[in-house]
Amino acid sequence: MPELPEVETIARELRPLIVGKTFRKITLPWPRTVEDGQKEFQAALIDKKITRIDRRGKYLCFYLEDELRLTIHLRMTGKLVFEPEEKDKKHIRVVFEFSDRSVLYFVDIRKFGRMKLWPKTEPLLPHLGPDALEENTVFRALVNRESRRPIKTLLLDQEVLAGVGNIYADEALFMAGIHPLTPALRVSKQRLRKLSRHLPEILKKAIENNGTTISDYRRTGRLKGEHQFFLNVYGRTGEPCNKCKTPVVRICINNRGSHFCPECQPAPAGMKAATKARRRKGTPGV
Ligand SMILES: [Zn+2]
Repeated sequence: MPELPEVETIARELRPLIVGKTFRKITLPWPRTVEDGQKEFQAALIDKKITRIDRRGKYLCFYLEDELRLTIHLRMTGKLVFEPEEKDKKHIRVVFEFSDRSVLYFVDIRKFGRMKLWPKTEPLLPHLGPDALEENTVFRALVNRESRRPIKTLLLDQEVLAGVGNIYADEALFMAGIHPLTPALRVSKQRLRKLSRHLPEILKKAIENNGTTISDYRRTGRLKGEHQFFLNVYGRTGEPCNKCKTPVVRICINNRGSHFCPECQPAPAGMKAATKARRRKGTPGV
């Protein structure tokens, strides 16, 4: 699933291609992609010019004339392309035609991607916490959460911090030496500070590398990201840890695979037995 660096990459690549263009026609082969109702969606966008493209959390935000905003959440498999590949053609869910006759396609195999219009009277994406791109912002978002939830779960909560998903949560916890199941309130201030420093660093590095392509994520020109070559734990189950050579372990937390090094990220006291039992039972691969 595209996370902050992947969506940021797409926003950067779309900007020179479509800012300044005006919607001429919109067709919806799969109307449920839009949350506003097909007719309302089409009527609101026709003849509107795109003035700016931005990103918040994992959402792409198109700013339009009349202070209308359009958000796009790519979810699992959504992508925006100008030239769909042959295999993508049956998965086109939205077709945006511009007044210069160019056409942008929203392709989405799994159909989880969603678009929504935000009139100027509505605050944009009010449920989202701050972007996880600054150390102090991340620290403030995490430090006073007296949460018993695992720290990994807290990192994935978009109301706490926006933009972090499974890949970068696992990578940041590895760099900070924190076991993903550690209850958030038991992570020391010192470790939280370390996590708050590493998480934005990792996200920024991933943006430099145009995101991570594990399966479906593609950049606008269908290119893959390159950050998958820099991952320490995510998707490396059974492979030696880059720091200590202990095999990387995968466990499930809230139905999401979590990857960590049991040596570099020791389980907190009281949890070691449970973790060992879980490992003995064995867990499925990535
Ligand atoms: Zn290690």
